Amino acid sequence: MRIILLGAPGSGKGTQAALFSQKLNVPHVATGNIFRDEISRKTDLGLQVESFVKSGRLVPDATVLEMVMRRLERPDCVDGFLLDGFPRTIDQARRLGDFLIKKDWKINRVFCLDINTEVLVTRLSERRQCSSCQVVYNLVTKPPRQSGACDHCGNKLIQRSDDEPNTVRKRLMVYQDLTSPLVAFYRATESFVMIQADRGVDEVTDQIAGHLNGVHQ
Ligand code: AMP
Repeated sequence: MRIILLGAPGSGKGTQAALFSQKLNVPHVATGNIFRDEISRKTDLGLQVESFVKSGRLVPDATVLEMVMRRLERPDCVDGFLLDGFPRTIDQARRLGDFLIKKDWKINRVFCLDINTEVLVTRLSERRQCSSCQVVYNLVTKPPRQSGACDHCGNKLIQRSDDEPNTVRKRLMVYQDLTSPLVAFYRATESFVMIQADRGVDEVTDQIAGHLNGVHQ
């Protein structure tokens, strides 16, 4: 099963992607998580992308594409994958399309998580993420069992530096300008599904699951 999750920052892509990656047993390829991991390990790629990620700007297409294509060539992606945070520009979507044709692969579903901006700003200010395994929490709707610690690995929860109000505003503008045109790009395909994402996690999960029933892989 090959799935793309589109949606603004805070729309719940990461939460749903983690759930469906487990349910469907396919890797969760989240470009933001990969970049944050490279930044924390101070690798060459991490140093190259750090200023973009921290300021809420998009990493240049060439860098993202090289990293994602390398990831999708790994053996665990042969039977499927779930893309979270990629593609984010029309150019990335076109290059992904060329790559899929070369592989004779097709995307089964493109889910767009639709949500209004007011809800996003609140959600992002309440979001916390594990500094180690990157599991996402919300202080109101999905708090950790023990304050400040990850339920899964016990490591410290942090607020992402790009979840601070000024950077959130920048990221929402970038989404509007560069990523939202992808909705029109994919809407024309039969795999496209709009999801009402201003609901609780379980309800969003049910909507997505309903559109995966009977999908031929
Ligand atoms: P995310 O965790 O998906 O919100 O991504 C965090 C940050 O990583 C973004 O604000 C960008 O700086 C960078 N990033 C992640 N995915 C992409 C992408 N597909 N294209 C460009 N930059 C990206």
